[in-house]
Order: sequence, then structure tokens, then C-alpha cells
Amino acid sequence: MERTLSIIKPDAVNRNITGKVNAMIEETGLKIVAQKLIRLSSKQAEEFYAEHKGKTFFNNLVEFMTSAPVVVQVLQGENAVSVYRTKMGATNPEVAEEGTIRKTFALSIDKNTVHGSDSLESAKREVSFFFNELEICD
Ligand code: ADP
Ligand code: MG
Repeated sequence: MERTLSIIKPDAVNRNITGKVNAMIEETGLKIVAQKLIRLSSKQAEEFYAEHKGKTFFNNLVEFMTSAPVVVQVLQGENAVSVYRTKMGATNPEVAEEGTIRKTFALSIDKNTVHGSDSLESAKREVSFFFNELEICD
């Protein structure tokens, strides 16, 4: 059993399609064991995405992620990290596979609808960044 952190990004919240994204998540068999709608501060977004500090897209990424509320959620199931990465699809929706969330909904490489942890180690850090154990119902 693994847990992974998912974020439904501002482009999806703005288009009122968080339910459609959740339906695709549920198709994988993973369970949404925690979920909340929050507005990230710049400080939070910078800390969450610290690994990308210094990259060309960093400022744009922080600006986008703080531009509207996001849905942060914990997904749980067997191989949750890789199952969700596969369902999300490639970062750039132009090269994402059919049937993935990003192929279906993403607008561009930056407005790409969802975030998912990229390893078990990141998942642990990212889940505890947003949730305490009492908020996770499994
Ligand atoms: P992923 O979200 O697929 O794990 P990364 O961790 O590499 O991708 O990047 C984090 C986020 O930064 C991406 O989801 C996307 O929103 C944004 N991003 C990544 N690369 C670019 C880029 N070349 N131009 C604009 N935004 C980007
Ligand atoms: Mg990443």
C-alpha cells in the first residue's frame, strides 16, 4: 500500500472540472483518502516546488499555482505513486498518451491540470506538507 499526493491545479478548478478529474482518478482504483480545497500562498508554493528553484519556469509556476484555489488530495492504493503518474500522463500534454488526465484536460505544459508525487520519498514529504494523519481517512 502506498500513498501519493495529488494536486488538481488552478486551470481545472477555474474550469469547474475537478469532479471529472476525480472520476479519472477513481478509474485507477486508487482511493481518495483525504481532500481539501485551499489557496496556496507564494511562500507555500515556493517551498513545495523548491526542487525547481532557479529553473526558467519557476516564477511562472509559483504565480500559476497561487492564481486560484487548488484541490490537494491523498491517493492510496497499491503502487499509488506510479499508478497515478501513469494516469496523469506526460508533463507536456502534447505528448501525453490518450486516456491520461493531461491528454484529456491539460491546456499547456504549465497549465497541466494535475500534480502527482514522482517517488515514494517525494510522496511522504508532499503528503505531510499538506495533511496531518488525522485528516487522512483510510
Ligand atoms: P511533473 O509535474 O510532470 O512532475 P515537473 O516536476 O518537471 O513535472 O515540473 C513541475 C511543473 O512545472 C509541471 O507540472 C509544469 O506545471 C511546470 N513546468 C515544467 N516544465 C515546464 C516548462 N518547460 N515550461 C513551463 N512550465 C513547466
Ligand atoms: Mg514533478
